[in-house]
Amino acid sequence: QETEETQRANLPRNMIENSMFEEEPDVVDLAKDSTFPALDPDEVAYEPRSSRLLVRGLGENDMDEDEEDCESSARLLGMSFMNRSSAHRSNSSPYTRQAPPRSCSRPSARTMVVCVLFLVIVASMTMVLYFLPGCTFTKTGCRKENKTTPIEPPFPWSQFRLPHSIRPLSYDLTLNPDLDNMNFTGSTVIKMVVLHNTKRIVLHSANLNISKATFKLDDGEASDVTVLEYKPRQQIALNFSEELKAGQYCVLTLDYSANLSHTYDGFYNSSYTDKDGNKRVLAATQFEPLSARKAFPCFDEPAFKATFLIKINRKPDYMTLSNMPKAKTTPLNNGLVQDEFEMTSVNMSTYLVAFIVGNFTPVSKNVSEILVSVYSVPEKKEHTDYALDAASKLLDFYNDFFEINFPLKKLDLIAIPDFLAGAMENWGLITFRETSLLVGKQSSPLEKQVVASVIAHELAHQWFGNLVTMSWWNDLWLNEGFATYMQYMSLQTVLPQLDIGNLFLAVRFRALDKDALNSSHAVSTAVNSPEQVEEMFDSVSYEKGASILLMLNASLSGDQQFRKGIIQYLKQFSGLNTDTNDLWNSLTQVSTQHQNVSEMMSSWTSQKGFPLVTVSRKGDQVTLTQEHFLLTSDNATHTSSLWNIPVTYVSDNCSLAPECRQLFTLKTKSGTFKVPESVKWLKLNYRNTGFYIVHYGDDGWAALRDALANDVSVLTHEDRASLIHNIFALSRLGRVSFRHVLNLLNYISNETETSPVTEALLQLNKIYQLLDKRQEYSLVARMKTYILHHFGSLMDKQTWEEQESVSKQELRSALLETACGLDDENCTQQAKALFKQYVDSNATSRIPGDLQQVVFNVAAQSAEDWPTLLNLYGHATYDAEKRKMLRGLASTQDARKIVWILKAGLKGNLIQTQELPLVISTVCKGFAGYLFAWDFIQENWDRLIEKFPVGSFAIQTIINSATSQFSTQAHLDQVQGFFSSLKERGSQMRSVQEALETIRLNKRWMEKNLRTLQKWL
Ligand SMILES: [Zn+2]
Repeated sequence: QETEETQRANLPRNMIENSMFEEEPDVVDLAKDSTFPALDPDEVAYEPRSSRLLVRGLGENDMDEDEEDCESSARLLGMSFMNRSSAHRSNSSPYTRQAPPRSCSRPSARTMVVCVLFLVIVASMTMVLYFLPGCTFTKTGCRKENKTTPIEPPFPWSQFRLPHSIRPLSYDLTLNPDLDNMNFTGSTVIKMVVLHNTKRIVLHSANLNISKATFKLDDGEASDVTVLEYKPRQQIALNFSEELKAGQYCVLTLDYSANLSHTYDGFYNSSYTDKDGNKRVLAATQFEPLSARKAFPCFDEPAFKATFLIKINRKPDYMTLSNMPKAKTTPLNNGLVQDEFEMTSVNMSTYLVAFIVGNFTPVSKNVSEILVSVYSVPEKKEHTDYALDAASKLLDFYNDFFEINFPLKKLDLIAIPDFLAGAMENWGLITFRETSLLVGKQSSPLEKQVVASVIAHELAHQWFGNLVTMSWWNDLWLNEGFATYMQYMSLQTVLPQLDIGNLFLAVRFRALDKDALNSSHAVSTAVNSPEQVEEMFDSVSYEKGASILLMLNASLSGDQQFRKGIIQYLKQFSGLNTDTNDLWNSLTQVSTQHQNVSEMMSSWTSQKGFPLVTVSRKGDQVTLTQEHFLLTSDNATHTSSLWNIPVTYVSDNCSLAPECRQLFTLKTKSGTFKVPESVKWLKLNYRNTGFYIVHYGDDGWAALRDALANDVSVLTHEDRASLIHNIFALSRLGRVSFRHVLNLLNYISNETETSPVTEALLQLNKIYQLLDKRQEYSLVARMKTYILHHFGSLMDKQTWEEQESVSKQELRSALLETACGLDDENCTQQAKALFKQYVDSNATSRIPGDLQQVVFNVAAQSAEDWPTLLNLYGHATYDAEKRKMLRGLASTQDARKIVWILKAGLKGNLIQTQELPLVISTVCKGFAGYLFAWDFIQENWDRLIEKFPVGSFAIQTIINSATSQFSTQAHLDQVQGFFSSLKERGSQMRSVQEALETIRLNKRWMEKNLRTLQKWL
């Protein structure tokens, strides 16, 4: 999966060999139990008892409408369908980890008497508190005392993860989606093998009304069975009186019905308006991470790989797609036809299954006997050529690079009109946002860069993720870190003209910034709840994962060693599941110099954060010390973390060519090496390929500053950008005075390369925005003068004509967006003129792609042009351009328009709801809107988490953009108050911790540096 904002990014073996199925003490224990397993006290305490009572037998004791409604709304957080009755919701959510038991506190009168007597006997309030929850600790759980209704069996499983005694082998799915009524029926036949003796089968199902269930053991007769359901964990179960024996095979058939989802996950409906103004509907799937269970009952964990045979019934005027090629189409007697797809030729995790019903048109091409197709809605067909070409080249590259051919016969890439993530790597049927796949012939190289990198990312997943899959979501980085790394690596080779290096460098800087927070987490980290699974889709899994792979590759001797290691890994674990150690072991095995990759890399994946390396020098002796670079710490934080750091360095003797690079491994707290005494300066972390920050001490920084002031080209542009990034980070940490930051930046008027300029602008803009929002007017004015003075000549040099080089486009758009954002007259005049020309020509004259944003931003500031831009937005078909218009519209400083656009984004008609995170983050950048946005988020929180799951990347973006602008105690209190009031609706999210920490840091930085700024700016 590609998170949206970053886009700028068989082989079945005997499964018993797979270690994860061998070690399962809990399962064996439970299976021995002759009755139902005792509930683990910890787990019981973890969940309120009320939720346990939601267990019910199928067909009997069905709840009445109200109860049902109430119960459904108590769905796992963010897992949709939470919009029913808010009155019910607030009382019925079982997701309150800390909430006291509720249902059990409604005992019958008799029990009350017993209780009172009991209390009298014990005569101690403390003891009462101790014993009240006691009923949960019985073997059978907490039962209703009403003798007149049959006692329901308790749900036979008490954990978030499924038991491993049963393994699915194959699924046979038949689906009947009804796009007129937005619902579907389905039938799922699951063949399974028993791995350990057991009396139960537990699997996932969410929001499905199961109407019939039959079970067949080995060659026996199929018979009806009762399905138990435990909705809070989205699990269903069968209980057997006789043990199923290891080695037996069985078949479970489930018929069910459900509504198509109206959020962005599961089997969801989507619509768009075609060029003739007609509303078109379609249904598509997004299963990663936990939503396959919303389309069919299944063992919905990545390690339960199986084969899939999929059949979809449809009206003749729709078409369908799935992971595999279509095998046949059969007419049905109700006027519908059935498309049957070939059975998957590989074992596959459930989150990679996909199917789509709608109207799409393909362009296709054969690449090494694989049919590659790009699908779009019919009217956007002419925007698919670039994607087809890029996908074909990248597929060839990966086939060759991994030395394993793509294992399926076809590969479809499809642009879905309403899609939340950037893209999703479903095996053989990759789904994309339109902006991530479609580019016009006229599109700028920057837009092509976006499309090519998302394709490169998703194609890499066909090996990393699909062929070899992480065993559990705690190692999500094995999928995402790798795909992110491969996306940059492959593009440097396959499409070098896209200049992807600058983007990868910027991505590594942002990953460091996030990982410097105490609220960050280790790359591999425990994951035990749905929102923790969602939260793994963050910059640590993606960008830090990619960064440490780059560091590893750069530190291995010989350029093919890394590649050999990953080929070894892919071949060894093809079709299987792995954890992080499997990867490091494969890389260690191929190491020519017996480098212990495991030893080095586990220090980077098993602890959060990264090291600060401090350099001190005495004559020829250089001492390096390492410590955890932690912006804020609480008392509980371990400060003794050590990393195994492959430190690289260059010096004024030799600083540019790769041969200049020296390597020193720092494993301990400090280490020393020698350099000739004549060396004037050292630059560590050559080209910023390592994941650490360097402090050179006053003398070291002064020497580097002087060297740069003399001649910028003594260092590579990556090294210059890395100095700028590092010194700002050190200022935030409090190690370097802001005066030193400004001193280093004095060289910048001589800078011409993209990455140092964009990094400096980004850092200065951040401070500018904080000052602006604190209403430090005189400092804001001085900061503006400072930026225009230091970057003015470079800004003035920029042209407004077409520009072919991606790197120059990046430089130009960053400079001009800043200039126009600061109301630089030169800039705004040019932008206005271009907009006028564009409107006068009826949108036929072209604004260069990289300048569209700045032009639309300027237009949106004018009361006259904003409605014109809105009108253009309403009619634009090309999605990339449309998004820039939207960003422009949201950058208005008119309060009424801001409120309107926020509401429109939530409503989802004129502005698709998938764009709401973008709207919010744009509004928050401006002075006029950031408080409105914060109010808006508080007022509409429940509707937001209905659309975007708690913990998801979209919610992370929304929280971060709304709160990262705050720097006062009052705002800190407000943010804290709001999120803690949410309780189960989001208070536990890591992004909330991150937000609070960021506000504290902003506050601290301001208190410390306002005076310096007043003096030196
Ligand atoms: Zn991905």
